Amino acid sequence: MLTPIPALNDNYIWVYARENCSAIVIDLPEINRLIPFLQQHNLLPEAVLLTHNHVDHVAGVPAFKQHFPNVPIYGPKECAVNATHIVHTGEIRTPHYHIQIIPTGGHTEQHLSYLVDEHLFCGDALFSAGCGRVFTGDYQQMFESLQRLKSLPDSTIVCPAHEYTLANLAFAQSVLNNKSAVKNQQILITQQREKKQPSLPTTMALEKHINPFLIADNLPQFIEWRKAKDRF
Ligand SMILES: [Zn+2]
Repeated sequence: MLTPIPALNDNYIWVYARENCSAIVIDLPEINRLIPFLQQHNLLPEAVLLTHNHVDHVAGVPAFKQHFPNVPIYGPKECAVNATHIVHTGEIRTPHYHIQIIPTGGHTEQHLSYLVDEHLFCGDALFSAGCGRVFTGDYQQMFESLQRLKSLPDSTIVCPAHEYTLANLAFAQSVLNNKSAVKNQQILITQQREKKQPSLPTTMALEKHINPFLIADNLPQFIEWRKAKDRF
């Protein structure tokens, strides 16, 4: 089971669980809809993975700890106040899951993404048709992070933390040559959003066709488009 639970304005909390297993929860903006969801589906969390220390990803941690004081919360050093286990690279092993940690700094310096059973939880590093703002100013680090994600198999299921897809597609339409792939995706996602369905997850195969920040194959191009997107 893979579910994006809407939180705050446009965040998602991802909940992933293999059949008959307890769940992994990615980021905790708040817990208002998370707790009822877990109860409804009879799911217990066995780990929380924090991608980075922005408030819209961690503000729900204290309330979560009150409900589940013994569930480990993994995150990078910048999340030290909220995480119970600090990680930076390598692997996390929980009772049911092997989780690969992928360093994806640039949005924040220590931003992490997590790969579990071909599901990529990439926080604010990679969005559908877009990427996170480079708050660190280190464009090279962000570019290298995205190249690292791009090297994952096409079949990778990509689970970003925000519903930004339509705005990102509008920007992609303005800079990419591949207008028809972007246009098709705009039509599809507009229909989904009219029905209040999430536009996510996406796949690495699709993103390679519609995401300017994966298509940019050199740093100057990446910087040009990222700065243009900030003004878009
Ligand atoms: Zn952020």
